[in-house]
Amino acid sequence: MNRVRTRIAPSPTGDPHVGTAYIALFNYAFAKQHGGDFILRIEDTDRVRSSRESEEMIFSALRWLGLNWDEGPDIGGPKGPYRQSERSDIYKKYAMELVEKGKAYPCFCTKERLDSVREAMKAEKKTAMYDRHCRSIPKDEALKRMESGEPYVIRLAMPTEGSMVVKDMLRGDITIDCEQLDDQVLIKTDGFPTYHLANVVDDHLMEISHVIRAEEWISSLPKHVYLYEAFGWEAPVFCHMPLLRNADKSKISKRKNPVSLNYYRRAGYLPEAILNYLALMGFAMPDEREEFTLAEFTKELKLEKVSLGGPVFDMAKLLWLNGKYIRALDKKELADRLYKELLSPEYLDKILTLTQPRFEKLEDFIDYSAFFFTGSMHYSEKMQKKLIGKGKSAKETAKALTQLVEDELDPLLKWDAAHLEEASTRHLAKIGWTAKEFFMPLRVAVTGKDATPPLFETMEVLGKEVCRSRIKEAAKLLKEMPA
Ligand code: GLU
Repeated sequence: MNRVRTRIAPSPTGDPHVGTAYIALFNYAFAKQHGGDFILRIEDTDRVRSSRESEEMIFSALRWLGLNWDEGPDIGGPKGPYRQSERSDIYKKYAMELVEKGKAYPCFCTKERLDSVREAMKAEKKTAMYDRHCRSIPKDEALKRMESGEPYVIRLAMPTEGSMVVKDMLRGDITIDCEQLDDQVLIKTDGFPTYHLANVVDDHLMEISHVIRAEEWISSLPKHVYLYEAFGWEAPVFCHMPLLRNADKSKISKRKNPVSLNYYRRAGYLPEAILNYLALMGFAMPDEREEFTLAEFTKELKLEKVSLGGPVFDMAKLLWLNGKYIRALDKKELADRLYKELLSPEYLDKILTLTQPRFEKLEDFIDYSAFFFTGSMHYSEKMQKKLIGKGKSAKETAKALTQLVEDELDPLLKWDAAHLEEASTRHLAKIGWTAKEFFMPLRVAVTGKDATPPLFETMEVLGKEVCRSRIKEAAKLLKEMPA
């Protein structure tokens, strides 16, 4: 076997996701088990949604968990650069190689034409696909049109007849009817590659031996396998891991569970408990014990035995496991953890900046700052009343708060007072509430108090995850209040 090289290839388009940690863990353990390399590659081909803030959060969350990579954008390595936006020329070159070989072709169809083809197919109840209109343009003519500056995309010329067999480590052979396969775009009009091209080219050039990734990518497998074939490259081994699920078996989502690793860090979970729990999602120890270290997991993992049943991400079980880990720490280690996470000098400094102006005695620290240290809120009866906007119903307030989270806060990547104020002001204009009506419920929702340091500064220090989960909790409480 070639040297084992695995990778985690996140797209930096939001908060660091618990699913990324789950996939990274299995890649890490498999690589280390074989004395191989674990690589971090940033897939930022979506120029609009990708951001450096998100990338930084991914680095820091994976580091916190202890899933350290051997090569990556921040530390470099022999196969870099490891950020796709820095590799554009490579993708263009390889796409042109396929055009030369007749395995790909430029497509000059306008958006209007593509829309009308799609509509017509839908009307005939067929799966909407490209009708391969440009595939028959002779190569010389196509190349001339490309040179003349006419806008184009490059598409992969997929086989149109017969069937294709692709292999997955956990599922064996999967046969696909070629008629279902679309001529996938490889290079977009803006010259940037699509995920499919960049992913395959990079996995090849970075000598990835095993692609271990989430099940949601299995539908892309035929395209990827065919790309390897078209280039004449040996494909890696593919292993699609079952997706983490909510309790109702739907794909894990932030509507039902906190999914950001930042949340778990802020809410006082230990990285080793999270790794242990994520390992259990796809793996059982030979002796079925549920507590084990990363080193033990790395030793015992049998990737081919990962079970395909949708693993349910059960917060109660994670909490139970986390409690066991915390209680097992010796006291000195526990104190160290507290100093590192909850009581770090940086965090204390931010809190004191906000609360010190109200101090009369040292002990005031406890009362004024308590809400900075807890995860979820317990609203007193008095505060529950204040959660309701003045002159509004509980249900209306619940809706206004939920909308704030979903429309304004979730998309925010820069979590600071100025951006929070901007987002909230936009929200007020949209829902037609006054600042007075809205900010008291919001203040109570995020702090459990009606008198606090300035709201947006407070929210900045609390962080996105704690705020969003408290606001959602408050909205739930409001929704359940009798009218
Ligand atoms: N960029 C993809 C993601 O965000 C990577 C999928 C893969 O591992 O091939 O999940």
